Amino acid sequence: MKFGFDIDDTLINLREHAFHLYNKKLNKNVELDVFHSLKTLEIHEAFGLTSKEGGSMWNGLLEEIYYTSCLPFPYVVETLQELERQGHEVYYVTARPKEHGERTKQWLIENGFPVHENRFYYGMKDEEKIHIIQELRLDYFFDDKPAVLETLIDKPIKAYAKSNSYNQHLNIPRITCWSELWDIIKKDK
Ligand SMILES: [Mg+2]
Repeated sequence: MKFGFDIDDTLINLREHAFHLYNKKLNKNVELDVFHSLKTLEIHEAFGLTSKEGGSMWNGLLEEIYYTSCLPFPYVVETLQELERQGHEVYYVTARPKEHGERTKQWLIENGFPVHENRFYYGMKDEEKIHIIQELRLDYFFDDKPAVLETLIDKPIKAYAKSNSYNQHLNIPRITCWSELWDIIKKDK
């Protein structure tokens, strides 16, 4: 089968990584429980920043956010490797900007993810992911972002939300930990 994955906050814990970088940069010590209760994908509210200030902060730190020590979620690397070992195809579909596509691909490879040159897509808008997903005829797609998931609900694809505080309102199947994937596949058979 063909499995498609968003990257940020689906496979890797990017917002939490950025949250620590914001604390460091702003010389603050905002607690992690504030982070976990955020109902927005953006994290600036936790630091009392406006959306504009948050945007500048994110863009100013983008290099560090994307390419330093962001942690993959538990079990994700071994789960994706096992999918490939079993003969499935693993695709990545990320809205990261075009200029970050190739380096992001390298970062994934360096961090142990199985990446094929022709199964890596980037630089599209959130609402455009659906077109790539349909063209590739993916069987499964996993994402965290409401704007993307909303385009997949009721489409002939098994779409799952990587569960997070900001996507709880969506009526869509969800995965909390990557160790659950095998049960999901079994159940869908
Ligand atoms: Mg994401």
